[in-house]
Amino acid sequence: MLNNDQIATLEYIVNNREELIIERAQEESVEENSSIGVANFLLGNRDNFASMSKKQQYHYDKVIQPLISQVYCEGMIGFHEDGSSSCLGTEFIEDEQLLAAYQLDDMRCQQCISSNESWHANNP
Ligand SMILES: [Zn+2]
Repeated sequence: MLNNDQIATLEYIVNNREELIIERAQEESVEENSSIGVANFLLGNRDNFASMSKKQQYHYDKVIQPLISQVYCEGMIGFHEDGSSSCLGTEFIEDEQLLAAYQLDDMRCQQCISSNESWHANNP
């Protein structure tokens, strides 16, 4: 089941950042129009989540879920050379922060954002 934050985020992506779905579908070698179709299906009615076909579920798992659930925070300085995150929080962007993250193209969790702000406040 998708929560309100995830639905709002998915709606924003479908309407404004469709390329995120397309890129992800191409990376996963699945048909991008079908992935977009599944996204629209899920937005059509929130009960649809429970009635996805196996094929739709596959698109959801591979393409849509990674965009709206447990999205990695880029951290304070991006990823370290060994691939670990420089995130100060949980390494994931909170669901309620996700929509703003996509809107602002700032893929960080609230902890990293507020730490960055206080750093600038203390280091003018
Ligand atoms: Zn973070």
